[in-house]
Amino acid sequence: MRIFDPHIHMTSRTTDDYERMAAAGVRAVVEPAFWLGQPRTNAGAFTDYFDSLVGWEPFRASQFGVRHHATIALNPKEANDPRCREVLGLLPRYLEKDGVVAVGEVGYDSMTPEEDEVFAAQLALAVDHELPALVHTPHRDKARGTERSLAVVAESGLEPGRVAIDHLNEVTVKLVRDTGCWLGFSIYPDTKMSPPRMVRILQEYGLERMLVNSAADWGRSDPLLTRETADAMLAAGFTEDDVDLVLWRNPVEFYSQSGRLDLSSASSGGTFEGNSILRGGS
Ligand SMILES: [Zn+2]
Repeated sequence: MRIFDPHIHMTSRTTDDYERMAAAGVRAVVEPAFWLGQPRTNAGAFTDYFDSLVGWEPFRASQFGVRHHATIALNPKEANDPRCREVLGLLPRYLEKDGVVAVGEVGYDSMTPEEDEVFAAQLALAVDHELPALVHTPHRDKARGTERSLAVVAESGLEPGRVAIDHLNEVTVKLVRDTGCWLGFSIYPDTKMSPPRMVRILQEYGLERMLVNSAADWGRSDPLLTRETADAMLAAGFTEDDVDLVLWRNPVEFYSQSGRLDLSSASSGGTFEGNSILRGGS
């Protein structure tokens, strides 16, 4: 089984996670730029973070045979801090980099006017740089946030097939299904979407344009929930080809639209063979 996790924050995870993911079949990941928990107070903090997403983290992943790409953006939460606004001016430089396969995560947190402005500006950057966009939907007031996100996407001129609307559930899947956008689902350990609930959504809505991710980060989350969802699909009667479509070919197709997805080193599926650099740095 080969798995592509299209949304996971490896910066917040350990090498043990990379080892377990590789053993479970995860061969490729996309790491979206996001909120690190501690609010950043200046643009330089973002520069260092973005550099790590296109430099250090792909290197670290490669030690475990995992191919790593990133999406770059000013996240919705920090879009509200005026001190972070100049990050928008840094983005074009990063959106030209080889390992960057989309603009994201963009979207809404609290649906403020500041978030409106930053969201629209970043979708315009996606158009300019001919990149897909990864749109985060808010955890509170999700239905209204999803509707509003779809309206902003429609206004942006970005083709729906180049947009993934993420963190969907049983309610919001209905809003996105017929828009032509891709549908992202984040599988969590005890809240929101679980593997059995995901399987029911796939049974009801089909496999086309469906993306399943762990969205694992610094909070309660589990990078192996992509694999658990694949196993739950098989147990429910889906075929191995169905699993390969949802957990590999769909994310590959979505991010391939960047023209930058390079999976050459992921095809054999890697195992960790040890690297002195990763045996404790500090
Ligand atoms: Zn995320």
